[in-house]
Amino acid sequence: MQFRPLKRFGQCFLDDESVAEQIAETIELDGKNVLEIGAGTGILTAFLAARAKKVTALEVDARLIPELRQSVLEFDNVEIVRADALYSEFSGYDAVFGNLPYNISTPLLLKIIESNSPFAVLMVQKEFAQRLVAKPDSREYSRLSVLAQNNASVSIISFVPASCFSPSPRVDSAIVLLEKKRASQVNKLDAALINSLFQHKNQTVRNALMHSAGNFGFGKEEIKKAVAKLSLSERRACSLAVEELTLLSDEWKRAIKATTKKKTVFNPTLIRYLPL
Ligand code: SAM
Repeated sequence: MQFRPLKRFGQCFLDDESVAEQIAETIELDGKNVLEIGAGTGILTAFLAARAKKVTALEVDARLIPELRQSVLEFDNVEIVRADALYSEFSGYDAVFGNLPYNISTPLLLKIIESNSPFAVLMVQKEFAQRLVAKPDSREYSRLSVLAQNNASVSIISFVPASCFSPSPRVDSAIVLLEKKRASQVNKLDAALINSLFQHKNQTVRNALMHSAGNFGFGKEEIKKAVAKLSLSERRACSLAVEELTLLSDEWKRAIKATTKKKTVFNPTLIRYLPL
């Protein structure tokens, strides 16, 4: 490697071809158009190119482009694009792949969820993967779990030790597969409600909402009356599965309307503006 890896670009390069091959083999790629985020020096890109119809390889760091180009010299189905993935289009592909720069995993995941690409196979930090698949009542269950599982079936394909990268990161990694749900299968969760519940996730729904009156722009009395109409108000927020959060969102919308004569605003993207 003739260049100094940059921390700000999360540059820990995969050093183990068998892991790159495993990532590329996670889903059938025959005839598929694939986007790769952060192609680096191309270890994964070559395995994708050998299987897919076309690979669009995004890489932000111009220093890596010559080596990336060299890695895929034998393929004529790779388009190398020097671009910042955070400002690139993720829609219009059959699948998105990437050994992600871990410092921007969350915004990249949100972009993948918002895109119309039906599959994603991603290498992420192990703890991030565990939050994606976490079930209610576990320590890792968070808004990230709710957001991911409401929009996709998420599974961990395998764990990858830090020793498979160069330079070695201080954390282990995991390969995750997201199979996106159809729009009709995605529940309409009330973002302000979910944010408020998970800000106080070990409290009951009643207490979490009372402590978050400011999030809704209503007074404590109004919140108290609305909470009294909720069937799950005595449950701890972190115990609620996505389906229960959906029921709660519906009840909350009706309760707020009945007690304040105001409408809650369903804003599907609001959930992304707080740290996940
Ligand atoms: N895919 C390569 C591999 O498996 O060895 C590199 C993986 S490395 C963890 C992350 C890569 O993403 C680096 O090459 C880095 O330069 C690139 N990267 C970081 N931020 C990016 C961004 N905003 N847009 C596109 N690429 C980015």
